[in-house]
Formats: sequence, C-alpha cells, structure tokens
Amino acid sequence: MSRKIWRRPNTCDCHKISYADEAAATAHIDARRDHYGDDAYAYRCTGATCWHVSTSGVLLESLRGSAARSAAWVLCRTGRVDVTQLAREQFGIGLDTARGQRWCKKRIRPLVRAGIAAWAPAEYDVLLAVDRDALLRVVRVGLDEYLAAVVGA
Ligand SMILES: [Zn+2]
Repeated sequence: MSRKIWRRPNTCDCHKISYADEAAATAHIDARRDHYGDDAYAYRCTGATCWHVSTSGVLLESLRGSAARSAAWVLCRTGRVDVTQLAREQFGIGLDTARGQRWCKKRIRPLVRAGIAAWAPAEYDVLLAVDRDALLRVVRVGLDEYLAAVVGA
C-alpha cells in the first residue's frame, strides 16, 4: 500500500495575483518598478507553491498557516517572540501539552538550530532575533525553503 504524500497545491485562494516562482514574481516587480517603487517584494504563499507580490508588507494573519514564518515575523518586528503566547493566540496550541511540545520542536526549534534566533537566557519560551535578514527571508519564503537554500549554498 502506497502512502499518499501531501503536496502544496499550485493555486491558492488569497485573491492575489499568483506567480509560478520567485523569479517570475521578481521579474514582474522589476518590469513595473516605477509603478511599485522600492518597497515591493515577492513572497511565497503559505498555503500553496505560488508566489505573490506585496507592496505593504506581509500581514501576520496571512502567515497563520506557518508557525516558523509567524515567529520570524514577530522577531523581525520586535526582536523577540513569546512562543507560548504565539502558540496559543495564533495556533490555539498550549505549549504545556504533548502536542504543543511536538509543535515547538518541529516548527520553532529549527530557527534556533539554524542560528537565526536564540532562546532568551532568563525568560521561559522567549526567542530573540539573531539574524534579522535571515528571519525576513524565512517570512518571505518559509522555513523549509530557507533551510534548503542555506544547506544548498
Ligand atoms: Zn496565496
């Protein structure tokens, strides 16, 4: 019996224009630079393989499907994130549960292992930003894609 592997769909229901990949989205921005100005950037949709163009910054609520991207978003904004609060408020998960511990291990700790965030020394379950450029990249492309690019580099 073969196991079905879940794959991200190619299309999403963000009601934004979709691009096949980062190069296509970036090319679109470059071609319309006078329309977009310097603030536009490409980011990968959290629910699908497609890419979108943002001119106003990624909203936290649009990252709801991704814990690592949500944590990276807060770290970029404020330099720190209370993981217990993020888990509860954005994902409805209690870190004091077995599920919450698995969630943290799988979704949050890779940010620490990658060296782009670090646990605060004196506070429980609080992460501090270490590398904001890398965290911004995680917000835009997702953790898996970021890690793949780092390992592949
Ligand atoms: Zn989308």
